[in-house]
Amino acid sequence: MSKSVTVRVPGKVNVYLGVGPREFSGYHELATIFQSVNVYDEITVSQASELKISVSGRYTEGVPTDSRNLAWQAAELVARACGEDSNIHIEIDKSIPIAAGMAGGSADAAATLVACDAFWNAGIPREQLDAMAGQLGSDVPFMLHGGCALGVGRGDVLSPVMTRGVFHWVFATFDDGLSTAQIYAKIDDMRGLDFELDPAVPTELLGALTRGDAPALGRLLHNDLQAAAIAAKSKLGDALEAGLELGALGSLISGSGPTCAFLARDESSAIDLVVALKATGLVDHVFHAHGPVHGARVISTSR
Ligand code: ATP
Repeated sequence: MSKSVTVRVPGKVNVYLGVGPREFSGYHELATIFQSVNVYDEITVSQASELKISVSGRYTEGVPTDSRNLAWQAAELVARACGEDSNIHIEIDKSIPIAAGMAGGSADAAATLVACDAFWNAGIPREQLDAMAGQLGSDVPFMLHGGCALGVGRGDVLSPVMTRGVFHWVFATFDDGLSTAQIYAKIDDMRGLDFELDPAVPTELLGALTRGDAPALGRLLHNDLQAAAIAAKSKLGDALEAGLELGALGSLISGSGPTCAFLARDESSAIDLVVALKATGLVDHVFHAHGPVHGARVISTSR
């Protein structure tokens, strides 16, 4: 058997997403709380005659297999940093929904950084991996670390957030994704040119996470992009409402959507909510996941 390295990486939900005004650079200042959840992509890297990507698993449609794939870009970065040629096969086994606001592409990029570092025995220091992750995209640094973190700047300047216990989530996904760029453009339009509030995470929300207080966290879930996502897809508003009526402690759009995230009181409430949400017919797929969990980790190596 030839050498290969497999890395597992979780998806994320933004428990809070505050978005500032559009800056001259086109970016927005963010204040966000990320939480990684146990829905995983797996990336396996092995030797090949040229750099290539294949995608399998629950979600494959719309994932590029060329240099547009963030995993490809991650492999090239590591190859350059450690003087290797990038002739590897990157196999992506996808369970994180695509274009869903759960940062699947960023997760694959983070996993590829870790996999290539291990594959080439590069020993890249953590700070350098963080910097490479930041170069690949704003969500990539968090996907390396996982857990629960405050992200400011473009979401890439991270500080760990203390949490107690396990939070149980239900995610409702839709077959048609939403474009992150279009959702940001829409929120700018809706706010107008004179919007200038700086984003900040409420201290009560940090307290709810530290205490493991799901009911308090449920009341404080917030996403500044939610109005834009609902304006783009009105059924998201109906789904968020339905989840609350069916007993969720809180609901919000994850990231730029369209995934709807519902916080449940405990595991059995989450399982009940999955069944009840499916029965409404308002959403395409529903699953239960919990967080926080570790970020990108090597799970197997063969030589
Ligand atoms: P975010 O929450 O970071 O905005 P997202 O979860 O909404 O991201 P992704 O699943 O990362 O969205 O996919 C967004 C787009 O990125 C896809 O439509 C696809 O064209 C592109 N893409 C690049 N690399 C990948 C990858 N490895 N997996 C999925 N999509 C990728």
